[in-house]
Amino acid sequence: TLLVDDEEGGVVFLSSSASSASSSGFGYASLERQRQRLPVYKYRKAILYLVERHATTIVVGETGSGKSTQIPQYLKEAGWADGGRLIGCTQPRRLAVQTVASRVAEEVGVKLGEEVGYTIRFEDQTNPVVTMIKFLTDGVLIREMMEDPLLTKYRRKNSLLGSSDDMPNPEPAILSVEGKGYTVEVHYVEEPVSDYLLAAVNTVLLIHEKEPPGDILVFLTGQDDIDTAVKLLNEEIQHRRKHYFDLLILPLYSGLPRADQDLIFAPTSKGKRKVVISTNIAETSLTLEGVVYVVDTGFSKQKCYNPISDIESLVVAPISKASARQRAGRAGRVRPGKCFRLYTEEYYLNEMQPEGVPEMQRSNLVPCIIQLKALGIDNILGFDWPASPSPEAVIRALEILYSLGILDEDAKLTVPIGFQVAEIPLDPMISKMLLSANDFGCSDEILTIASFLSVQSVWVSVRGVKKEFDEAKLRFAAAEKKVVDIRGQLLRLMKRFGIPLKSCDRDMQSVRKAIIAGSFANACHLEEYSQNGMYKTIRTSQEVYIHPSSVLFRVNPKWVVYQSLISTDKHYMRNVIAIEPSWLTEAAPHFYQYRTPNPALN
Ligand code: ADP
Repeated sequence: TLLVDDEEGGVVFLSSSASSASSSGFGYASLERQRQRLPVYKYRKAILYLVERHATTIVVGETGSGKSTQIPQYLKEAGWADGGRLIGCTQPRRLAVQTVASRVAEEVGVKLGEEVGYTIRFEDQTNPVVTMIKFLTDGVLIREMMEDPLLTKYRRKNSLLGSSDDMPNPEPAILSVEGKGYTVEVHYVEEPVSDYLLAAVNTVLLIHEKEPPGDILVFLTGQDDIDTAVKLLNEEIQHRRKHYFDLLILPLYSGLPRADQDLIFAPTSKGKRKVVISTNIAETSLTLEGVVYVVDTGFSKQKCYNPISDIESLVVAPISKASARQRAGRAGRVRPGKCFRLYTEEYYLNEMQPEGVPEMQRSNLVPCIIQLKALGIDNILGFDWPASPSPEAVIRALEILYSLGILDEDAKLTVPIGFQVAEIPLDPMISKMLLSANDFGCSDEILTIASFLSVQSVWVSVRGVKKEFDEAKLRFAAAEKKVVDIRGQLLRLMKRFGIPLKSCDRDMQSVRKAIIAGSFANACHLEEYSQNGMYKTIRTSQEVYIHPSSVLFRVNPKWVVYQSLISTDKHYMRNVIAIEPSWLTEAAPHFYQYRTPNPALN
């Protein structure tokens, strides 16, 4: 049985084949009572009935109504996991996979990783023998489909052979799970605010001063501004003292360590007020009980892709009305709540977009097209997309995939490179670099580089304060351990592909050439000498700059290749190496001759 959670609309799709006997569930009393209070509980029988009779069941319900945590348990209690079968439940985000799995393990009363487990990229917390309920990201499921297109471990053993009487109805069944939240009173600012971060901090302090008990959820955009807000609030608490000490300030973003995740969900102790400062992950992917006040800055960090410049970046952008309503709804979980919008009512009514742009239309399609091809879907241009990407974006992606040698002239995955890239759980450009490393005799070094690129930066700036320095070292240690683990997993893949581990013994030119084999499309040329010189991308002549965290910042080599871009006031290149221009034509002759008849390259 497979549950696919679509966080946007609060919908779960269940698809199954045929059914089974029943057994009764058990649990700890108070947790059991919490389970029974969730809106899906009333529909337990209806859900089990529909799933028996329909190949696909769609359950629609508000965020937090219990779709992800409860339905897998109902199915398990009804015997769907008997006989070595597996109940899978996908979540769009890694953090949601981890927190939901840990909650379900607690409700079932088992250790996480045994009967209830999870799998996210580079982290498998399941046991092949005993796991019955497995949470996973969409991406992990797609990878499993590549190895096993019929997803046999999620099916009843004899379901493909059953008589026609046992066959479920191929029409999907749709069930709406009602359970509205409480009313939420919405407040707007009278004048536009110039600094939403400061405004959010002040609003939290004001709520604490004026409003009765209840936790506060603040929507900011990313780890940087969340950390700043946490720091500012803690300073204010130290400064104001007295009843401000009742505030407990907690950050929430993906990549948060396990201990901090637990704090987010721990019940607030009496007399305290929890303030969770979150990215938009708390908008639809996670539900925090106890939130009565929401502070909505009106912004989130969004992926954005421009097929003309071929630049994909994360930018802070205004949210849509649909998101604003969803954010406000988070305040009405346990009782009537209040939402403080840090924008004017006039702006909400007249300027905010009604709906956000689907992610498919804001993304570079390279990873998506490889996945479709690997699943055997060849006609990309005629594919029935839920939200069609622009033809330019499709063509851009096909162009790059062709020049990377991942697709052939008929736009089919190449053997073995294309199929191997599809199997490696990394950005395709990094995967290609890994597969090319052998040609340059530096697979050992490239494996390490690829592993480091898979974790958030391990480097932090240290400003001489002892405490910060110690924390910095700890963060480095944690990230380094993870890198070693990822390296081990990638090494096993390389072995399977028959790529030997070989070191080039500090021949950095070979290492840089191997990097270019994957990242040649990200080449840039220095246009303007200055303190931090301006570069232009060779492909599309976009202005870009070296990120201050790079060792090449202010060195300004004439030619560089970058691995990623982040966009704030400018486009900044991160993970940059200096190159020789002739290496580009060597690495990708079609690409550079066809795209750019640039005299500097000859
Ligand atoms: P849905 O899938 O319908 O959005 P969920 O099943 O994820 O809803 O959530 C149901 C309830 O379980 C929510 O009230 C949520 O707060 C609670 N919950 C989810 N994860 C945890 C956790 N790790 N700790 C405590 N409560 C949790």
